[in-house]
Amino acid sequence: MFGVLLSSAVLTGCISTEPERLAGHHEDINPEAAGLSVARQVVHAKHYMASTANPLATRAAAQVLAEGGQAADAVIAAQMVLNLVEPQSSGIGGGAFIISYEAATQRVRTYDGRETAPAHAHADRFMRDGHALPFPEAVNSGRSVGVPGVLRALAMLHQDQGGLPWARLFEPAIDLAREGFEVSPRLHGLLADNQALRAQSAAARYFYDAQGRAWPVGHKLVNPALADTLSQIADDGPDAFYQGPIAQDIVAAVAAHTVPGDLTLEDMRAYRAIERKPLCMPYRAYVLCGPPPPSSGPLAVMQMLGILSHTPIAQAAPVSVEAVHYFSEAGRLAFADRDAYVADPQFADVPVQGLLDPAYLAVRARLIRPDRAMGVAPAGSPPGAPEAGGHPRGIEPPSTTQISVVDRYGNAVSMTSSIEGAFGSKIFVRGFLLNNQLTDFSFLDVDAQGHPVVNRVEPLKRPRSSMSPMLVLRDGHPMMVIGSPGGSAIIQYVAQTILGVLDWHLNIQQAMDLPHYGSRNRDTEIERGTRLQALAGPLRAMGHTVREVDFPSGLQGIVIDRNGLEGGADPRREGLALGG
Ligand code: GLU
Repeated sequence: MFGVLLSSAVLTGCISTEPERLAGHHEDINPEAAGLSVARQVVHAKHYMASTANPLATRAAAQVLAEGGQAADAVIAAQMVLNLVEPQSSGIGGGAFIISYEAATQRVRTYDGRETAPAHAHADRFMRDGHALPFPEAVNSGRSVGVPGVLRALAMLHQDQGGLPWARLFEPAIDLAREGFEVSPRLHGLLADNQALRAQSAAARYFYDAQGRAWPVGHKLVNPALADTLSQIADDGPDAFYQGPIAQDIVAAVAAHTVPGDLTLEDMRAYRAIERKPLCMPYRAYVLCGPPPPSSGPLAVMQMLGILSHTPIAQAAPVSVEAVHYFSEAGRLAFADRDAYVADPQFADVPVQGLLDPAYLAVRARLIRPDRAMGVAPAGSPPGAPEAGGHPRGIEPPSTTQISVVDRYGNAVSMTSSIEGAFGSKIFVRGFLLNNQLTDFSFLDVDAQGHPVVNRVEPLKRPRSSMSPMLVLRDGHPMMVIGSPGGSAIIQYVAQTILGVLDWHLNIQQAMDLPHYGSRNRDTEIERGTRLQALAGPLRAMGHTVREVDFPSGLQGIVIDRNGLEGGADPRREGLALGG
């Protein structure tokens, strides 16, 4: 059925014209008839491509690539602009995971820029009288702030794989911060709704007018404080952030919150990004690669796809009872293992190889029945598994961002970057927001059976993530660059998009347009307001507890094939893919 959909991609892209013209032609399909939720145009280019959550950030990245910059350079330029124009999602006050393909050495490398808990953090950080704090109370607090990691990770990436001078990569963001950028509809909407942000006076002065109204769409917002901060980091490198006056202001702002945190200058000074061995798994004719724990994301995506390869999902239509059933069941199995086993590997013995062992995945796949939902999946016992206690987390609010880049030299970088919830902790310092990433720890330190929870708070530990910046390789070379925001649903978004391209033979845009579904080992969730509604009845008849939910993914992806590059941006956000 989908062979027909792929037949007519002859598109062009360049960086200097407007998005509509860059986007090229529609594929010759009827998206509704194909069961696709939203139609966006795939972008084609010959030499390089950037896809980010905001057109200004994409343009900054594309300009760097046009100048001959490396993918690593473009990612840094995009991140700094995103800090300014998409402040709800990511920035230098947050953390990130990066995976890259380095063409010169033909190596895949990953960088962990995840936040760490302060040295004084204790396991009862998010508890009161033995109970978990309500989630918003934990978020809107100095205690949710982890030591930011983005700049250390980007500096490492730049040192290893950058080409243009570090300071050049900050220019677009500094210029925009001084000249101003127009408030986007998404930013306006998130500001209008956010009482916790209004309650923080430094943030309120920047994000709202004197009457406390969110700046309207199109309002030109200037951020001279961020311009100054970025200028210092551009001139003096990341040490300007981790030591000295900027670090002092961060520590002071966290301590000054009505619920003070315990971040210290020593925590800031001691922070290190970590280069980790990539996690890779063969899948059909491909190899899937992503960062290993403390992100649970790529591991869970690989488990899901490994389990699904034992089912007939590839033969099912992407929007069908069969696809939702098998995909949800695989999700349950992967999330059960994630909750039981995955945490910071410096603190927990994560049986990564066991969890991806082909024989283990085959055994797990046998728990899936073709005609009946399994309910809640138990964690498995992979080879090398320690006894561990899990604690499933709630659904996170929409935040985080994805940057996908391929350059003219064949390098590729996928980076997912986050301050966790929308506007993070809401603590605003020198023009940027601090993360609330420590709420990605389990709030309880022991599970119902009294076992210590693997992802409990411990000093200097990194909270478990779901971020899944991934590369798909074919014959040792990257053929897909993908990732998304979306809390733990990131795992489903990325797995579905990979499945869409590799197994359903959709183009990258069609794959990310698919209405989302899946299970995080609770209900079977389907995306609200989509044609999946029609499948709810038959799914319930199979024993699925079906729930309609918002699935605000922010996929940004690139596919590389013989004919060049194909880019897509999630229609649910404001992103743009551009190439040349
Ligand atoms: N903090 C989440 C994580 O690291 C990401 C949050 C989001 O995507 O909204 O998994």
